[in-house]
Amino acid sequence: MGIARKLLRWYDGAKRDLPWRRDPSPYKTLVSELMLQQTTVGTVIPYFERFLARFPTLASLGAAPDEEVMALWSGLGYYARARNLRRAAVAVVAGHGGALPADEAVLRELPGLGPYTAAAVASIAFGARTFALDGNGARVMARLFGVGDSIDRPATKARLRALGTAEVPASRAGDFNQAIMELGATVCTPRNPRCQACPLSADCRAQADGTASQLPRRSEKRARPIVQTVCACVTDGARVLMIRRGKGLLAGTWSLPERTLERVAADRVAADLAAEAGVTGGKPQRRGAIRHVFTHRDVTAEVFRIRVDRAGRGGATQRWVAPEGMTELGVSSFTRKTVALGLGSKRDNVARRS
Ligand code: SF4
Repeated sequence: MGIARKLLRWYDGAKRDLPWRRDPSPYKTLVSELMLQQTTVGTVIPYFERFLARFPTLASLGAAPDEEVMALWSGLGYYARARNLRRAAVAVVAGHGGALPADEAVLRELPGLGPYTAAAVASIAFGARTFALDGNGARVMARLFGVGDSIDRPATKARLRALGTAEVPASRAGDFNQAIMELGATVCTPRNPRCQACPLSADCRAQADGTASQLPRRSEKRARPIVQTVCACVTDGARVLMIRRGKGLLAGTWSLPERTLERVAADRVAADLAAEAGVTGGKPQRRGAIRHVFTHRDVTAEVFRIRVDRAGRGGATQRWVAPEGMTELGVSSFTRKTVALGLGSKRDNVARRS
């Protein structure tokens, strides 16, 4: 088919001016690619700029405390990406002299770099002739080549990756990959693709067959489990008790004490959470509920405020924090909402995934 020439010509005129494309470097590519997973460009830009201002190099990132990295990621979601990025920086400093390796297979060995990120960095930063298959790339390839199999099947992904790889030109491999991403984000969009504005419309199987809106196909998703939890907003009126979460959902971030609700009255759970954090006295007052749809579960959290006379002591996994000090911690948007409800508004809130 030979789509590269048309695609690159279009990309040269249509590409957006994005901070990681200005004065590019392998490190900027890595940070931007990780931030952009599951997150829109508009959301990522301010996070990327703050992150690069604080950690201008891999070495500065590798030397930073985990907590500071999490704080700068706060609100961006999918926090494992932040922990892995820092771990990757440490590994690059220790094993590669502080410079990201150019080889895709070696990049794959770094913490948190899956096939997509390794291929994206290898091609965009080092010009490797490889295809980075993410959701955008899979959608564009499935439509271009009229692939009707479910794109979440490994065999289909392998086929789409092979089809994409065959199109990557020997020169400008990185631009080719970025052009596919750009096309998927701005023209060949999940709903209502703008085929009239597409540089590849004459080459596109789905456009010829009139099937663009039906592709790509996916296997039926299993419904997310619905989980009920209780959050205890323990406060002395000025500060709020925050705990650092261990493994599992939002691991490593700071949040209100929280527990799954199972056959025990919610206010009892809230009182138990406070007692386990060393807080005594204070009657739980129900403030409302927050619903938040995470990727793998649909959580409704009942929030209780427990007013105490005096804040207790902090520790490695426990702190008393003023609401305005939350930005210093790694705090998810879910936690921001539970704190706001615990301290302020009584209204129940239904929040979608951020
Ligand atoms: Fe996507 Fe339409 Fe372009 Fe085909 S012609 S790649 S379906 S935007």
